[in-house]
Amino acid sequence: MADPTATICPRCAHQSVDLVFSSPVPGVWDVLQCPQCLYMWRTSEPDRRTRRDAYPEPFRMTAEDIRNAPEVPAVPPLRTP
Ligand SMILES: [Zn+2]
Repeated sequence: MADPTATICPRCAHQSVDLVFSSPVPGVWDVLQCPQCLYMWRTSEPDRRTRRDAYPEPFRMTAEDIRNAPEVPAVPPLRTP
């Protein structure tokens, strides 16, 4: 259904994405993933999740954003009762 080679990543605009899975009933939806930012989506989701031009501005990323992303914070120690 979706042509991964003709799809750009909605989140980071990477120029190619990977086909991860296709619907059990052929042609209904595909699951795609961006190899750059690891965003994953199903092609049947709304435009705001599947299209770069409709993806919410505050959540868009660039390759530079990804390079400069801070380390994921450590899990804090457990609270004592
Ligand atoms: Zn991406």
